[in-house]
Amino acid sequence: MINIDKYKKLKDELSTNNVNLIAISKRQPIEKIIELYNAGHKDFGENRIEGLQERVDNLKDKDINWHFVGHLQRNKVKHITKQVSMIHSVDSLRLLNKINTEAEKQDRIIDCLLQMYIAKEEAKFGLDEKELKQLINSEDFHSLKNVRICGLMGMATNTDDTDIVKKEFKYLRNVFDNFKESYFLNHDYFKEVSMGMSNDYKIAIDEGSTMVRIGTMIFGERD
Ligand SMILES: *Cc1c(COP(=O)(O)O)cnc(C)c1O
Repeated sequence: MINIDKYKKLKDELSTNNVNLIAISKRQPIEKIIELYNAGHKDFGENRIEGLQERVDNLKDKDINWHFVGHLQRNKVKHITKQVSMIHSVDSLRLLNKINTEAEKQDRIIDCLLQMYIAKEEAKFGLDEKELKQLINSEDFHSLKNVRICGLMGMATNTDDTDIVKKEFKYLRNVFDNFKESYFLNHDYFKEVSMGMSNDYKIAIDEGSTMVRIGTMIFGERD
């Protein structure tokens, strides 16, 4: 069972700050997803291809917006292009090219976020600022018609040191603002900064997040 009161309080806190909530349902029982959907929630996220496919199959009749937030391999892209509403984790031009190709086949435009590496951990994926600039300035990038770059995504270091987390989120927001100014000023859709999870979402909001990706706080511990 989900604590719906807690969910509603979170929703209120977020909407006061104009922040959208992506409920990360990975490795959670499907009953809990349905419960949250029945409470009016539409945006859900998964971090694995198999997970997303399974959810989509089992929840076909529901008008859910599916977000993909995990590391994505190019050869797997084709499995999600039909159903996915936004991909948060684009970390290379080659991947973006592939998403564009598959989206074209489906005759659709897919919303994407570029994932930036902001943490002090080796394990996390993403591009650094220089690589992001290279990607955005590349000729290829401008020829892609079936992807829409809606902003940036990042994950902070997993640490209790809030100063570090704060600094990383501030940096991501700053890069977003600079990119908006330099490259996307006339693109209304470049407006998202996807940052903040159960443990650090409050800091993320303070630092200008527009989208938080929250799992355990809503659903409880994962299997
Ligand atoms: C699992 C996951 C989340 C949610 O994490 P919680 O700590 O459960 O809130 C957010 N973003 C990504 C990319 C994830 O993989």
